Amino acid sequence: MGQLRRLAGMAMVVGVLACAVASTALRAAPVFDLQPNPHWKAELRVTSAELLVQREAEARKANAYGCEQYCALLADIFERVVRVATYQVPGGADHDWQLIVTRMPGEEAWSLPDGHVFISEDFIRRNKLDAEQIAFVIAHEVSHVVLAHEADTVDIVRRLVPFGVSASVSDVYATLDFDMGLLLRLAPMMSDMELEADRTGLMFAALAGYDPDRASGFLRKLAAGEQHQAVVATHPEDPRRLAEAQQFLPIARRLYALHDTLGLRAGSTR
Ligand SMILES: [Zn+2]
Repeated sequence: MGQLRRLAGMAMVVGVLACAVASTALRAAPVFDLQPNPHWKAELRVTSAELLVQREAEARKANAYGCEQYCALLADIFERVVRVATYQVPGGADHDWQLIVTRMPGEEAWSLPDGHVFISEDFIRRNKLDAEQIAFVIAHEVSHVVLAHEADTVDIVRRLVPFGVSASVSDVYATLDFDMGLLLRLAPMMSDMELEADRTGLMFAALAGYDPDRASGFLRKLAAGEQHQAVVATHPEDPRRLAEAQQFLPIARRLYALHDTLGLRAGSTR
């Protein structure tokens, strides 16, 4: 979930687990052929950096910065998922990959377009997520980054709104804050991006060595939970997310079976 998808009520942030992504010899062909949108990259980096500073300050102030309970598990999952994603997607390594862990009540998981992924231990505890489900959640966020969903959204908003050529990314965000009509027009596209992040995340997690049948348990939990209907639905409804992801389980299972060849070992020094 990028910043745009987080406009409604994002809490704070916290704690940094640096992820050292090994750039090593590759031994298998990438499974995906994804060409991220390079537009607005520099501008998005600036707005990402600003938001990062702001969220970290908020988290420190709330004394909820950093991991406590899941440090090793989260570091391992993030390293494995990012290794797969950066190998599978052209330009995927060109991000400031870092996992930022908070203990903020109510915060879930989200990402900045520059590669900072946030997750709250409270979210993990509250939903009783196991390693595979956490891997899916993190892989979903990593997918938003490598698929450049934020850049695509900014790109489309600039085409829809008569800004003129000088509109900045900040102008786009400010417009989205008050233009409900624009948000309604974007909602179907943003829902599609969520579904794309779900299925790509499922594949990344499978290639990183996480059983997709267990990983998709996160979506089963969501679908079984209470449904909230937002005023503007920028996320698809949870049962639809589960149904769409289930269509990709057969291929995810095959990738999982081959993950030693196509996933981890492809970019591993182990
Ligand atoms: Zn998302």
